[in-house]
Amino acid sequence: MAKSKIGSITAMTCPRCREGSLFEKPYSMQNAYKMKSSCDVCGQKYEPEPGFYYGAMFISYILTGWLFIIVGLTLAFGFGWTVTQTLIAVAILTVLIHNLIYRLSRSLWIHFFVRYNPEAVKPS
Ligand SMILES: [Zn+2]
Repeated sequence: MAKSKIGSITAMTCPRCREGSLFEKPYSMQNAYKMKSSCDVCGQKYEPEPGFYYGAMFISYILTGWLFIIVGLTLAFGFGWTVTQTLIAVAILTVLIHNLIYRLSRSLWIHFFVRYNPEAVKPS
């Protein structure tokens, strides 16, 4: 069964066929940033032009900003943490999830530009 667009973005799969993985080792901390050059299933290029992922930086900024505003406000006002405690918790959270945010923003970015094509097959 085909994944939804949101499912494909969060699973970090190819936007065209929604089958092949965008990253070399999706769940590894080593080579965490290494993307495949193209899809194993349909052959879609993952870097259509040089500097393609420049815009993903802004997606990353937006995701990180909102996440930390929500977490920071929840800790400060919901749990009564001090500003120092909240900033330390947010800094630790940044280190722990930067990898996920990086991948998710690249996945979102390529899904903006490449359309889903269920007929896509690997070129011979
Ligand atoms: Zn594909």
